[in-house]
Amino acid sequence: MPNMLVHNESDRTVQAHLHRLSRIVQQGGEDESAKAARAELPGFISAVNACLERHSPDSNGNCVSCTKGPWWRRRRVPCRMLIAIHAAMFEIDTAQHRHSLAETGR
Ligand SMILES: [Zn+2]
Repeated sequence: MPNMLVHNESDRTVQAHLHRLSRIVQQGGEDESAKAARAELPGFISAVNACLERHSPDSNGNCVSCTKGPWWRRRRVPCRMLIAIHAAMFEIDTAQHRHSLAETGR
């Protein structure tokens, strides 16, 4: 399983980087935090944009990444990934958001 090893190593590298950055932003001084934000924000914006692009709707309103296989696996936009991104960015409780989506029939 060489691909799984590469993926796990990549995950650990990203998680370690995020942990280090989080520590700097939360515990570092103003200058250190500002430098980290200037250095890291463009990469984060690119990552989020890439994710948004991958989870965009097809002509039927289904997520192009989450919709694979038979019709019963189709996922409408916003899919779980988009909901998770939105919740993380705006600190929304995802459980509460799921309930509000269910009420609107989405
Ligand atoms: Zn999706």
